[in-house]
Amino acid sequence: MSNVEVEPREGFGGGEATGTPARDLLEGREVVIGTRDMLVTRTLPHKVRRMVGAWCFVDHYGPDNITAHEGMRVPPHPHTGLQTVSWLVEGEVFHRDSLGNAQLIRPGQLNLMTAGRAIAHSEESPPDHTPILHGVQLWVALPEPDRATGPDFAHHPDLPIFTVAGATVTVIMGELDGARSPARTYTPILGAEVVLTGRARLPLRPDFEYAALPLDNSAEIDGVDVPRATLIYLGRGRTELDLRSTAGPGRVLLLGGEPFQERIIMWWNFVGRSHEEIVRMREDWAAGRGFGTVDGYDGEPLPAPPMPTSTLKPRGRLR
Ligand code: MN
Repeated sequence: MSNVEVEPREGFGGGEATGTPARDLLEGREVVIGTRDMLVTRTLPHKVRRMVGAWCFVDHYGPDNITAHEGMRVPPHPHTGLQTVSWLVEGEVFHRDSLGNAQLIRPGQLNLMTAGRAIAHSEESPPDHTPILHGVQLWVALPEPDRATGPDFAHHPDLPIFTVAGATVTVIMGELDGARSPARTYTPILGAEVVLTGRARLPLRPDFEYAALPLDNSAEIDGVDVPRATLIYLGRGRTELDLRSTAGPGRVLLLGGEPFQERIIMWWNFVGRSHEEIVRMREDWAAGRGFGTVDGYDGEPLPAPPMPTSTLKPRGRLR
């Protein structure tokens, strides 16, 4: 016997086609990650905006010359309630997880890890890495019906690529201009890399909210000069978007999705819904319970930081 009832989806779509375009520049802040003081620029969550669609975390790193360094070195750590999206502009990153996957990722490829109820992974530069490391690490919040799904990892070496006048586009997650990524998604969402050679125009969905992040050079997005590693929030109600490279060829990450209606708690590497749940996840990780083990990483797992003295409260997409 099996339960074939489809989970109700009210609250994750709603068909809200209204909403206004915006042009809000969200400056990133520098954050140290891993064990070797690797610096990243975090634009989500931001103090004035926590999510864009289900995208809830945007870290940009590099380009860093790691010739004489170990490069990235993030020891085994847990995740819950989210997907991690690893995307490189330059270099390589080696992923290991508690499902037994060991996968090198290169530019143009997607590593998509679905934590579901629990997974652990490590990420590091391989010993024989190339000189430059440059990429993004993104998180996607899972909606209530799917957030306790079984963990999964997928490597997508071949993503759809299309060209329009002035740009070449790789669809990382979701669908854009009829090109659909094979990556599994749980909410209506878009992630795409746009390589600009001039002025380009891309079709958008008015029911999605969007944001764009120039990865290498500044770019003009909807008429606004957006510095590298700064996120521009574009709002909703758009049917197209103008982009223009202003400082040589430009690489822009385009993120979008249906506004995420649930309130969530993001704490350390966990996405949950209540303080008690986060406490339990933290205790499980500390006790070596439920997340499995990551084999092959040369080093100790990351310990969870202490819980804050205040009670964690679920927060919405804005603040
Ligand atoms: Mn991680």
